[in-house]
Order: sequence, then C-alpha cells, then structure tokens
Amino acid sequence: VREETGAGASEALEVLRRVFGYDSFRGQQDEIIGQVVGGGDALVLMPTGGGKSLCYQIPALVREGVGVVISPLIALMQDQVDALRALGVRAGFLNSSQDFEERRQVEADFLAEEMDLLYLAPERLSAESTRRLLDRGTVALFAIDEAHCVSQWGHDFRPDYLGLSELHERWPDVPRIALTATATEATHTEIANRLNLREARHFVASFDRPNIQYRIVGKNDPKRQLLELLRTEHAGDAGIVYCLSRASVEKTAEFLVDNGIPAVPYHAKLDSRTRARNQSRFLREDGLIVVATIAFGMGIDKPDVRFVAHLDLPKSVEGYYQETGRAGRDGLPSTAWLAYGLQDVVQQRKMIDTSEGDAAHRRRLASHLDAMLALCETVTCRRVQLLNYFGQQGSACGNCDTCLTPPQTWDGTVPAQKLLSAVYRLANERGQKFGAGQVIDILLGKSTPKVQQHQHDALTVFGIGSELAEPEWRGVVRQLLAQGLLAVEGDYGTLVLTEGSGEVLGRRREVLLRREPERTARAAARSGK
Ligand code: ADP
Repeated sequence: VREETGAGASEALEVLRRVFGYDSFRGQQDEIIGQVVGGGDALVLMPTGGGKSLCYQIPALVREGVGVVISPLIALMQDQVDALRALGVRAGFLNSSQDFEERRQVEADFLAEEMDLLYLAPERLSAESTRRLLDRGTVALFAIDEAHCVSQWGHDFRPDYLGLSELHERWPDVPRIALTATATEATHTEIANRLNLREARHFVASFDRPNIQYRIVGKNDPKRQLLELLRTEHAGDAGIVYCLSRASVEKTAEFLVDNGIPAVPYHAKLDSRTRARNQSRFLREDGLIVVATIAFGMGIDKPDVRFVAHLDLPKSVEGYYQETGRAGRDGLPSTAWLAYGLQDVVQQRKMIDTSEGDAAHRRRLASHLDAMLALCETVTCRRVQLLNYFGQQGSACGNCDTCLTPPQTWDGTVPAQKLLSAVYRLANERGQKFGAGQVIDILLGKSTPKVQQHQHDALTVFGIGSELAEPEWRGVVRQLLAQGLLAVEGDYGTLVLTEGSGEVLGRRREVLLRREPERTARAAARSGK
C-alpha cells in the first residue's frame, strides 16, 4: 500500500490540475490527500475557506470506488453535486428529499461505479438498506463533513452524527477523513473519540484569518450604525448582515433598501423559491447584501464577501468565527463588525433559561455565551483572544479595533459597588427584583412614575450614582454581567447577585472596566437608549 503513495501524489496533482483547474495545493492539502489516498484516516481542522473539500474529493477520484460524503446540509447537497458535475465529476446524493425513482437511479450508478462521489445525509447511514447498499459496492473513503456536529459540547450537535462511530467497525478497511472548521481543543478530542479516529493523523491549520479585521462596537442604534459603516467603508460591497430574529432580518433589509443600498432578506420562514432566488442573486450579483438569520451561509462559497456584520450577539465564539469566516475568502481585506449591547446579554440569558434540555445543556450554552462576552469585552487583541479560544497562539495583530485604538480601562470598583448594593437593597429591604433600567434610574435619582409607584426614592441608594451618565451605567451593567459579577434571570431580565458580587461588595475584589469609546456614549445619549 505504501508504494502507491508516491504514484498517488502525482496522480493527485494531475487531478487537481485537470479536473479542478488549479496549479498547486494550498497549505496542508497535499499531505492530507496523501494520507487518505494511502488508506490512512485523517482529522482535519481548517478554517472556512481553507479548501477542505478537495481533501476528500481528490482522494475519491484517485482511489478505486466511490467516495461517500456524510454532510448534514441537505439543502446544499444539490448545489454541491451540481458544482461537481459542472467540472465533469460524477456525483450524486441520497437524502429524504428524493422520490423512489431518483433514489433507485443513484443506487444503480453507485453499484455500477459510474459515480465518483456520493453525498449522504447522516440519518441515511443508520438505515440498514443504505448499509447493505454500501456493502455491495466499493467505497473509496468516508468523508465526514462538519464533523463538529458529533460533539455534544460543540455548538451544533446533531444526534444522527453519533451513529457514525460505527463506520469503522463495519468497514474497517475504508479510510475516513473527518473535517471541520470549528473546533476548540475539547471538541477536537471529542471528535477523535466519538468517531473512533484514534489512529488518524491530525492536521490542524492555523485559524488565523489575517485579512479579516475584527471590530466589536457598543450597540445604540444598530441599523444607523450599520448604515454608517456601509456608507463610509463598504459602499458597493457585497456582504452579509446577521440578525437573530426573522422580524429584524425583514426590517433591516427594508431599511437598507429604503436608504438606497441593495439588500435581500434570507431566513427559514421565507418560501423556498424566494430563499433560493435571494441566495443565487447574492452569489451572482456584485455588491448585494444579504440580511439573514444564521440559517444562511453554511456552504456558501462566495470569495468576495467584503464584510460580515452582526447586529445581534452570536451565541458562541465558534458561531461567530464561522460566520465572520465567510468574509474575505479571496484573501483581500475584509471587515467583521459586531454591534452588541446590554439587551443582547439579557435576551440571550433569557433564551438559555427557557431553553429545552437539561441543566448540563443550559450550563453548556451559558459557557458558550460567557466566552463570547469575554471576546466582546476584552481589552487585548481580539485576534489573539480568538486564536487562544481555539487553542492556538498569536501575537497582537495590529489590525483589530482593540489593537488600532486600545481601549482604556478604569477602576470601576466604586460604581460597581453602588450598582450591586442597589440590587442588594431592592432584594433585601423590599424583596424585589428589577431590570437594569429601573436600577439605573434609581442610581441616577430619576423620579419616574415607576420609581414613585414603588417608592424607590426612599431607598438609601437613590441618586448616589450621578457621576456616570445612563449609557455608562449600562456599560457597567453589561461588563459586570460579562465578568460574572452580576447575573440576569427570568422573563424580564431582572438583575440578581452572584458569588462574585459578594466579593465586590465586601471590598475583597476590584473591578477593572473598559471605557466606552466616547463616540458611542454620545450617540447613545442622543438616541436616548
Ligand atoms: P472550506 O470547505 O474549507 O470552507 P472550500 O473547499 O469550499 O473551503 O474551498 C474554498 C475555496 O478555495 C473554493 O473556492 C475552492 O475552489 C478554493 N480552493 C481550494 N483549494 C484550492 C487550491 N489548491 N488552489 C486554488 N483554489 C483552491
């Protein structure tokens, strides 16, 4: 088998040139391909746009038999297969969207080896009929795409992926290659264990995307802030704007169009024809913006996406990295811009509290959110923080917002104590819980109807916080939440103390805060939020 590797290598290069029309391999592609062509297993961690597909497509063409690709993205199978066919590669897929006749034809092609690549949805593999089909044909390799879906700790777990551990037992001689663009060290280990990849060679590419400039700003009037970004830096550029809800997707797309910027919406509730049309317009037209929920983007291969903007906080660093990774696949300078505010934190904590699943699941979601908040509030290089999150090292990049305008920090211990003691007094003297808005009104000494109604002007903390303006207080709350020194709970996002709050109140702990950039604070004051 070993002798074949040498011949395999030149054959792989020949296929790269003849079929795919590229001159040379990128990064570790040739080593990975060599490993699989030679019959070995591989675990590949490579960022989006790194060129993972060729790592299994070429071995499938070089080795005898059909390469079987497990992919969770049923919606994209057709596109992938079409793209391969356009290159003259014989590809097909089996999934639940097909009727009997279509399936039968694909199976016949597979058995006759008139096929190079067969895409399968993971649940297909647990069907005994599919297994028997694979037994009767010749499988060149198994490629497990989006392999992080097997990880229960990851951000995108799919139960069907657990069954893939049996591939090795049932077909011990077929090489397997698992690929993912998102994996922390913990997920990486979990993928290897769960997929039985102990003998596999691991290929870990750098997760650095040097051409992407990471920027995270305070949110005050997100649509306006976005508009300013587009007008000043990205006029005429193609990009993706992510929003959490379908309603804000619609509103934001409309807003952009009203302001003369070509934009289309994309979310799961649009009918499939509109979705397909908007997606293909995005791929084909220049300078179109897609405003989307995270349903959009997996497998989208558009090289000149110049910016990815988030109007809401992503739920995890993995998600953020994957979404921002869709910018700048062509290597040219691109922007990853995120606006986030206190309301994001409140809203996401609430979603976690009310999410289905057990306590362990909620803890997992909470730790994902914490890591995302830490990235938002960091005072050091964002890129370094991202790389560290994925277990990699880096040095300050000089190209993210925190490197370009280093945020100043200030000693926020006293304001933190004031805020926490207001929460404490509400709870202890009144048995009440309130959200950030009311607590801040109390600190500022505002006699609002709600303050009067609850006689909060009688509290000793009433009006003790006039040294800061409202947006600054909101920044304090946000950062205390991010640091775990305060928590929110329930439907109304009420503030509650944590163990850490006790340390601050007991003067055993100092609080270092990031100074809000002045522009943001002023704009927030203007918009009254
Ligand atoms: P990933 O799956 O890792 O996100 P893809 O496999 O979709 O990345 O590849 C990203 C882009 O890079 C595609 O447009 C692909 O055709 C291109 N590409 C991959 N390998 C090479 C190569 N060796 N030379 C030139 N372009 C490549």
